[in-house]
Amino acid sequence: MTLRPLPKTVAPVPDELLSGWLIRLATINYCEVDELLAHIGISVRHPATFDFEVDMATLEKIAIAARLDPKTVGSLVFPPMSQAEALLTAQFPFQSCPDCSRQGLALRHWRRAWAFDCQICGTRLLSIFAIPHGELASEKLLHRARRGAGHLELAIASNSAAHLRRAMRAVTFAMALKTVRGDKAFALQHPRPGVRIFCLAAIDAAQAHPLIKAAMFSRSIDGFARAALLRTYGKEPRLLAAVDQIVKRNLRSALLPEAESHI
Ligand SMILES: [Zn+2]
Repeated sequence: MTLRPLPKTVAPVPDELLSGWLIRLATINYCEVDELLAHIGISVRHPATFDFEVDMATLEKIAIAARLDPKTVGSLVFPPMSQAEALLTAQFPFQSCPDCSRQGLALRHWRRAWAFDCQICGTRLLSIFAIPHGELASEKLLHRARRGAGHLELAIASNSAAHLRRAMRAVTFAMALKTVRGDKAFALQHPRPGVRIFCLAAIDAAQAHPLIKAAMFSRSIDGFARAALLRTYGKEPRLLAAVDQIVKRNLRSALLPEAESHI
């Protein structure tokens, strides 16, 4: 079968994902993406799987259909990643830019757990599957979460195991405070936006003075905080004892004014 180009084509934008661009290509040719792929002889259950790995024959078919260089089409696929980077890169979309997604764009950096603002327009990325949970993040918490996201990005970019370990320990701690169970990478993509924001903010809080900041986080949460501390620092008894002391002191000073009022 000789493959003929599609009637219309569309140029990819920088950082665009192959699956997102295929949807735009289908839309401009008045069809659905699975129809478009079937038309050019490609069978795939979900086009998002192409975002991570695609064989040369498929790339060439798409390139001919879209009248593009196969290299250009290949550049829309994630390059090979380190284990940590792969762990923090979502297989399926979990957040998007409300402005750019309205124009049909799906960008690669949105899949990264550390992506906080859209690199194209600067709008804050929002969870696609947001579950309202009565949690409205304050500007201060958002600011801290944005900084935490930056630390996470740096840990990945520098491939620093120590930096990453500290960040992920903060996430474990934040998950325990939020009573969220499961995978740390999933918590960073959590559909409850409050969980993701809190985990990222905890990464920032754990940077400068990990023990004191961690304890400050737990100040008003008492029982949960203690369980969280045990879970996070369980394998490090000296750290646990130090943080626990700070928490107890914080709790005592928080309780003191109330006790005095009864005298
Ligand atoms: Zn945007």
